This record gives sequence, C-alpha cells and structure tokens, in this order.
Amino acid sequence: MEQIIAGIFRSEVPSLTLPPYQGTQCYWIGDAHDVVLVDTGDGSPGAQSVLEEDWHHLGRPKVLAVFATHHHDDHSGGGAWAKARWGARLYMNAPDLERLRERRRDPVDSLWQPYASDAFTVGNMGVTLINAPGHTPGQWNFWLPAHRVLLAGDNVLGNTTSVILPPDGDMGLYLGTLASLRNLRPRLLLPGHGDLVADADAYLSRYITHRQERSQEILSALAQGPREPNSIARVIYRDILPPEKMWLGEWMVKGHLDWLSRQQLVVEDNGRFRKVGQS
Ligand SMILES: [Zn+2]
Repeated sequence: MEQIIAGIFRSEVPSLTLPPYQGTQCYWIGDAHDVVLVDTGDGSPGAQSVLEEDWHHLGRPKVLAVFATHHHDDHSGGGAWAKARWGARLYMNAPDLERLRERRRDPVDSLWQPYASDAFTVGNMGVTLINAPGHTPGQWNFWLPAHRVLLAGDNVLGNTTSVILPPDGDMGLYLGTLASLRNLRPRLLLPGHGDLVADADAYLSRYITHRQERSQEILSALAQGPREPNSIARVIYRDILPPEKMWLGEWMVKGHLDWLSRQQLVVEDNGRFRKVGQS
C-alpha cells in the first residue's frame, strides 16, 4: 500500500479479468477510524488478500462504504466479498448498475445501490462525486477539491490511453468528459490502472488530441472510398497492434465511427462506412 497524500492511500490489486491483465488501483479515503474504499478489484483471492492486508496497515478502520467507479469486473467484482468482510454498503452509479443487471445473473440489487447524494465526507476529506460518462455510461469520478486530486476511474489510465469500446463506451460522451475533467484543473490524477499522473492538464490535453487525431485518420482512410471497420483498423493500427489484437482495433474504430456518424461526418451502408458527401 502507498500513501498518495494524507488521507488517500492506494492498493494495487492483481486482476485477471481483462487483458492486458494490468493490476487495478483501488483507493482508500479517510483515516485510521473511518475509510471509504473506491473500487474493489475483481474479487479474486489475490485481490482480496491485498485489500485485507492493506486494511490492516491502515489500522483496521471502519469501512463505511465501497464505491465502484464503474461496473466492470476488475473494479466491482470484489463487492460481495467487501460487503461480507466489512459490512460496508456498496454504491454504483445508476446507469452502470443497469449494465450490471443486464450482464449478471446473480442478484445485483441486494449488493449494489445508487447513491442518494453527490458528495460525502470521510475523515477530514470532502469528496464530490462526478458523473463522468465515456468509458461506461455511469462512470463515477471522485473529486477532492481541497487537494485538487481526481480519482479518474478508467477515464484516465497511467502510461497509456483509455479504451472506449461500444456498447459501454461512447466517444462523444468521453470527449465531453475529458474536457470537463480538464476544466477542474486537477493537480493530480489517480487512474484505475497504471501510475498516477502529475501533469494532469497536459495529460488530459494529449488524450483529447489523440482521439481527434484518430478520428481524422479514419476520415483519411475513408477518403479513398467506403470501408468496413476491420479494414479501417488494419490501416490505422497496422504499426500499433499485432494481427491477433486487431479485433481490439476494430472495436476502437467502431467507437469512433459511432461518434463520427452522430456528427453526420460518415454514413453506414451495409456495414461499410463512407464519408458524407462522397460516393
Ligand atoms: Zn479497469
């Protein structure tokens, strides 16, 4: 466990849920008496034992609540365990709760519930919940205004860009979220995976530019004529992704095409996309 600043601690738990099997960063907010845990990891024995050990290091505080930044298993999969272990209440933003209900057979509503407020205080720390859709429709970010620190969930990843895959991901919403996160002028970003980000403004600006460049590359690829998403992916990601990972590129291209369609810059014809105004 690592103390980020007074009142915020980070536990990196192993995750086997999604490639590239990067550990999930879970954050404790509070003091030796009371804490709130943001994200649980995937609930595997390895993730459980890291959280258990770090909770002891914190002085075995009362775990008042567990918040999930979003419904993906590498963030919420340990919910049942955390509830049984600490008796904590589990909170997830309503749109993501809906997604969880759709994809899980076990009773979701006896575990997770929406949160009735948009702020809480734990220890000396005031925390504001921010609706930050994009990676998922109900992604929650957590803003600590006194320290200008943002827990960014999977909207920001250390060392790499985030993945916006439909149907959960929405590129238009994501770009809007990145702009509003940048407007907060955070000093420090605490991502759901990877290292913390100290040059927050430059990092978020790079994220936005990166997406805009990808969209432009897609439009350029379509300048030569209509193409299917997998064919666009093979052009754009040819030097970035190995052939066996090209499906991921195809999904990312679909995310962009979705957004370009809504801006009426491209249209779909029988699975092939073309630029508007081009036959
Ligand atoms: Zn994640």
